[in-house]
Amino acid sequence: MPLQDRIQQVEQRIAAACQRSGRLREDINVIAVTKYVSLETTVSAYKSGLLHLGENRWQDAEEKWVALSGKDRSVPEDVPTWHFIGSLQTNKAKDVVGKFSYIHSLDRLSLAEAIHKKASQLSIIVPCFIQVNVSGEMSKHGMEPEELSGFIDALQAFPSLQPIGLMTMAPYESKPEETRLVFRALRELRDVIQRDSAYGSGIKHLSMGMSNDFDVAIEEGATWIRLGSILVGKEEE
Ligand SMILES: *Cc1c(COP(=O)(O)O)cnc(C)c1O
Repeated sequence: MPLQDRIQQVEQRIAAACQRSGRLREDINVIAVTKYVSLETTVSAYKSGLLHLGENRWQDAEEKWVALSGKDRSVPEDVPTWHFIGSLQTNKAKDVVGKFSYIHSLDRLSLAEAIHKKASQLSIIVPCFIQVNVSGEMSKHGMEPEELSGFIDALQAFPSLQPIGLMTMAPYESKPEETRLVFRALRELRDVIQRDSAYGSGIKHLSMGMSNDFDVAIEEGATWIRLGSILVGKEEE
């Protein structure tokens, strides 16, 4: 299906989910996850108005980042806003900070320290989402919900990092409705943090919902959805 049609179909579903839940379209931000597609498709996506791009490995993102945002970029437009959405090794933080505007996978203090260190060298502040393993699935990254409040307090030691929200991945379900409780639980965690923690009051955003389940995530309060296959497609290697 042509990209324009995909974008339009996704837009219709976002609008419908907003309508069902009484939310405003402008409160939902879309990240086009380009990890399954070529540089060429990534450029088309950006030129079609998908201004937020997500990647989960620096090795795979590098070519695209250089072409679209590097010093001698080959795509002369304005630059996209890059989101790092994959799990991040501590020693790779320095590759990502300064290139990706947002990091969605903060899940431990050693990583917070590495992000802070590089960001302070660059005199920037990096907005981050704290990844929480709400579903309890063994294979999913992210911290346990019980660890969250202590973690947020500990982040005060790293002022070049700004926690702005929570992120989670729901398990793949053939019936997307079955992901609802995962998304609801993340929203409730966010609400508790906002109520109980002075430092956590800036933690407003919810990065949740992928191709299979974004409608449900929007109904449960997502403010950033991360869409790969359904939006920009999935190309064979
Ligand atoms: C790959 C990926 C996505 C997008 O996946 P789709 O199911 O293709 O939409 C979203 N979030 C994360 C963390 C991912 O790794």
